[in-house]
Amino acid sequence: TPPSLTPTPPSKWRGFLQILGRVTLVTVFGCAGTFYYITHKERRPGTQLPFDPSKKTLVVLGSGWGATSLLKGLDTEDYNTIVISPKNFFFFTPLLPSVAAGTLNAGSILQPTRYITCHKARQVSVIEAEATSVDPVNKTVTFTDTSPLQPLSPTNTLKYDYLVYAVGAESQTFGIPGVKEHACFMKEVGDAEEMQRRFLDCVETAAFPGTSEEEKKRLLHMVVVGGGPTGIELTGGLHDFLEEDLKNWYPELHPYMRLTLVEALPSVLPMFSKELIQYTERTFKESRIEIMTGTMVKGMTPSSVLLKPKGTLEEEVDCGLVVWAAGNTLRKLTRDLMGKVGEQVNKRGLVIDDHLRMLGAPSIFAIGDCTSTSYTPTAQVASQQDAYLARMLELIAKWDALENKLQQLTNATVQGGNVTDGATTEAESIERKIERIKLKPFHYSHQGSLAYIRSDKAIADLPIFGREWANGGVATFLFWRSAYLSTIFSLRNWALVAGDRMRIKFFGR
Ligand code: FAD
Ligand code: MG
Repeated sequence: TPPSLTPTPPSKWRGFLQILGRVTLVTVFGCAGTFYYITHKERRPGTQLPFDPSKKTLVVLGSGWGATSLLKGLDTEDYNTIVISPKNFFFFTPLLPSVAAGTLNAGSILQPTRYITCHKARQVSVIEAEATSVDPVNKTVTFTDTSPLQPLSPTNTLKYDYLVYAVGAESQTFGIPGVKEHACFMKEVGDAEEMQRRFLDCVETAAFPGTSEEEKKRLLHMVVVGGGPTGIELTGGLHDFLEEDLKNWYPELHPYMRLTLVEALPSVLPMFSKELIQYTERTFKESRIEIMTGTMVKGMTPSSVLLKPKGTLEEEVDCGLVVWAAGNTLRKLTRDLMGKVGEQVNKRGLVIDDHLRMLGAPSIFAIGDCTSTSYTPTAQVASQQDAYLARMLELIAKWDALENKLQQLTNATVQGGNVTDGATTEAESIERKIERIKLKPFHYSHQGSLAYIRSDKAIADLPIFGREWANGGVATFLFWRSAYLSTIFSLRNWALVAGDRMRIKFFGR
């Protein structure tokens, strides 16, 4: 039979594959193009307006959560803005335990402050220095360059019209002997790197030929003090490092590795629901992580920690490393500032009114960990306060401009000597506008608590689902966390964090 000349009709499959191919191609090119466009734009900011002598000076102290989310939302056209902080970068604290455990690189969670300020409409001055004193009466800030390299006169004083006070807090050691000298803290990027260095030193020292059994046990016993989210995440991260990486690299040391979590309160994670606390404790026990609740730390030496469990005698526990994540205390700058204002009597932090103004010093707005409020200070609180404050500063700028106009009008009438009808109507209209400027008081809305506990497990108390626990993959939780925390995380950070996660999937920590 002769071959058929009519072509076979294209199968449905082929058509589908062709469409799929085209859609994929367009999506890939579209994403790559958008990625290139955004990164290109972020690296090449446009020209900015210069400082305007007619505008008021807004000084921002700090470059942490508070200061950075404010800078993101602030309309800098309204002010001459100056940022003073000993660090010229912001870092994403919730991911600090991941840096300590080697899951992420420190650089991936950093965001240079100038990266944000150079995209603002009006130029923002960034000064790398530590504020050493605030004078709320004369409205001045004194600051010093404390970095290794210093200019000829490292100390300077600036006058402000409004001050945003967001210097955070420092680690609380409760004056327990030895803690300051021997513990690793978990507050700064440098702390996470230092902890990683000391941790690896413990492991290598244990692997050194001739190290005794006793000494190996001690070196490979890690103690984390503090059962809040930071302590829990850190313990979980260390556990992953031990189980997923070190177990393969140092199989002979694996039996000696031990993790202990110490908490003074009767339970860990006091801000979470009961089910979640029990779930965390169960998971930790399954992972051979010892939890010691109701236990006080009484002292520390370079090779041990002195513990006092409730109802029993003090015991000296040998360990290679103690990580301290046991709470915050005020900075000296904040305590000094409180001493200068009679209304500030609360020892826990700066007392602020409904509009985030410091009591007794209405030109100072205080936000974040340096304040004393009814809610636990977290990044979540700080970032909501900032969104509010950015809006508030916008209204204040409007108010100031109208007041100025009114003043000019009054001056002109006084000098001219005669009050015209036009001037009176204009003045009245401005007064009405001023009266209309009102801002609702700040209200904190809790978006949920969550913590990463171990090997791709995380826990969450999310108000929208009622009080319930979730046990999903890390990606879900990173996503959830990012939803409310990462307005300040740039595309650059996302890409770097994603890259780091991929790196450890393939190559380990
Ligand atoms: P900070 O972010 O601490 O910023 C203070 C800034 O002030 C810093 O830039 C500092 O350099 C600067 N500064 C210090 N001294 C001076 C000075 N003398 N003059 C000028 N500037 C100064 N919260 C959550 O909601 N979710 C979490 O998952 C979470 N995880 C955390 C994990 C860790 C390891 C830590 C340490 C904290 C975590 N937090 C979390 C809490 C959260 O980070 C803080 O509540 C938040 O950082 C408070 O913001 P802040 O601006 O008040 O202070
Ligand atoms: Mg310097």
